Amino acid sequence: MQCDMCGSSEQLFKTEVEGSILNVCSQCAKYGTVISRVKSEEELREEEKRMQHRVMVKEEEPVETIVVGYASQIKKARERKGLKQEEVAKKINEKESVLHHVESGKGSLSIALARKLERFFGITLVELEKYDYKPEKHSDNSGAMTIGDMIKIKK
Ligand SMILES: [Zn+2]
Repeated sequence: MQCDMCGSSEQLFKTEVEGSILNVCSQCAKYGTVISRVKSEEELREEEKRMQHRVMVKEEEPVETIVVGYASQIKKARERKGLKQEEVAKKINEKESVLHHVESGKGSLSIALARKLERFFGITLVELEKYDYKPEKHSDNSGAMTIGDMIKIKK
């Protein structure tokens, strides 16, 4: 970037000079009123990078979900260890009824409890799922409405 008045490429200032906003060097800034310091291209690039990074992080933020069929996975893992529900419950500091519910698939399994069970059994119960922004598929047999159909319905 260069000074709008003299072409010097030093630090520029956004300056109001006789009613118009110019990016000028410190020397030329004396002819007007400095509004703000102009960010260098490097600073702008850095800022852009940070913004992009922020956006990327947001988009890729995974969602923790419990795997399908967790109930049977836990039951199998427990049986492999030859432990009773009661024993497992004691070891992971949970109530037997909680474990019973989880294994029957009736109670909802919290991420926290799933993490405990994962560590205890060495199994995977929590999956990281990325947001899926894809629009829902329109099923063909339902017959997607055309503009013509919509007009017919309106009549
Ligand atoms: Zn200048």
